[in-house]
Amino acid sequence: MPQSFDQCSLYLHPAHHFSLKEITPLITELQKFNFISQAINKQADHGYFAGDKFLDYIAYMGCAPSIQFEASENSSNFCFIKIHHYRPAKLIHSQKQARAPHCPNCKKPVKNWQDARSATSIKCDQCETTSNIESFNWRKMAGYAQLFIEITDIFPKEAIPQQILLDKLADITGVEWTYFYSCR
Ligand SMILES: [Zn+2]
Repeated sequence: MPQSFDQCSLYLHPAHHFSLKEITPLITELQKFNFISQAINKQADHGYFAGDKFLDYIAYMGCAPSIQFEASENSSNFCFIKIHHYRPAKLIHSQKQARAPHCPNCKKPVKNWQDARSATSIKCDQCETTSNIESFNWRKMAGYAQLFIEITDIFPKEAIPQQILLDKLADITGVEWTYFYSCR
């Protein structure tokens, strides 16, 4: 098992610009279809236990690892769901195994992307074109959005969101959703 296992998460987010006034209605919907259950700690910010149908929505690859859904005596690390709501939008990317995004214009990997992390656009060092952060191909290792659903304790490609989940999120929000992995 890779050492960074405990530090990686799967993130779901709207594929295109999308803003939400408040996240309570979204949380209610996620609870309704049993993707999440109750809040872990009402004081903490938006952490939820996995719901009864969690494994219908997230498919684990290979021989299914024994997934911990609660803290145990041996480990305080477990799989839970966290909702992040940022204003303005934020780029979440891997600290470990970071990959250069591909420029939407020349399709080449951009080397200077780390300089532009707090900006809304990046000037490609290959073709000198400036493009929106959203339009870069982040190759499933980063995402730029106001809203993220984080599922903790998932190593890159260890688990994949099922189409039924992406469809439900699209129904609730009216926009397409996508996903990526990030390790701290
Ligand atoms: Zn370029």
